[in-house]
Amino acid sequence: METNVSLDVNVYAELKILYQRLEEELIQVNPGCSGCGICCDFSKFDHILYASSIEVDFITQYVKVPNFNILDNICPFLKDNQCSIRNFRMLGCRVFYCDPHYQAVSQDVYEKYHRGIKELSTAYNIIWEYHPFLSQLAKFKSDSPAGTH
Ligand code: SF4
Ligand code: SF4
Repeated sequence: METNVSLDVNVYAELKILYQRLEEELIQVNPGCSGCGICCDFSKFDHILYASSIEVDFITQYVKVPNFNILDNICPFLKDNQCSIRNFRMLGCRVFYCDPHYQAVSQDVYEKYHRGIKELSTAYNIIWEYHPFLSQLAKFKSDSPAGTH
């Protein structure tokens, strides 16, 4: 298991509940996805994935972060065109679908859960940070003790 400065475990538990609610809501919306994985290759998709520091902390607490080159601009958790950390992936990953029929509701769904995560940071007195995912992950790798990640 990766080691990171751990937040109150209740934050992670509440974050998991938020993610679960989101997944239940998305089942009702049922956006289409072929699972091609192209949206996790940010250059190909011309897209920057943002994440809150709470979510990145959650991932790095439970998941081994592979070595990666930020200049490749591909999520290092993409393996054989599949997400290798589905249970831990961020809100930005969970709400993104390229299905044009989903676009009408995507912003509302995103904002609702983004607000929920922000409220967690207030409730647990955690500084709210929201930055590109890859740069946060690269910082985590550079801050980690050599040889542990
Ligand atoms: S965490 Fe998973 S879903 Fe999110 S960008 Fe990476 S591979 Fe894609
Ligand atoms: S959302 Fe679109 S681009 Fe991303 S994996 Fe699904 S079909 Fe591919």
